[in-house]
Amino acid sequence: MALSAEKLTNNQQTVLDLLEKSKEPLKAYAILYDTQKKGIKAPLQVYRALDKLIEIGKVHKIESRNSYIACEHKNCNSSTSTSFLICETCDQVSELTQKNLPSYFAKQSEQADFKYAKHNLEIYGVCKDCSKSLVVGGKIDH
Ligand SMILES: [Zn+2]
Ligand SMILES: [Zn+2]
Repeated sequence: MALSAEKLTNNQQTVLDLLEKSKEPLKAYAILYDTQKKGIKAPLQVYRALDKLIEIGKVHKIESRNSYIACEHKNCNSSTSTSFLICETCDQVSELTQKNLPSYFAKQSEQADFKYAKHNLEIYGVCKDCSKSLVVGGKIDH
């Protein structure tokens, strides 16, 4: 499913630039706040740009946070299915791109007489940075 290199509109590019620079997922109103200087005036313009960016796989939505993150991977085909690792300590989010996940879930679904369409996985835990500081902080045994 190769998507042609469509030219983004100014608004889409502005929103994408912002998300790519951001270290954390952003909510729509935060995107609007930061892009107002660049000519985006209405929430609807933000949502329209996001819809398109999601459709072409440049941006993913993190459902539980109702926020958006730029895809970290080139040619990410997961415009519908996404898997994220979310740190419960610092809220850092990274994307998991296991290509076999859709077929794994399709198989599991099939066994339950269910037709798999897509998935939005959110895996919670502790990121590398936080687990380091946990070990340091936790080793106080005398
Ligand atoms: Zn992606
Ligand atoms: Zn963390």
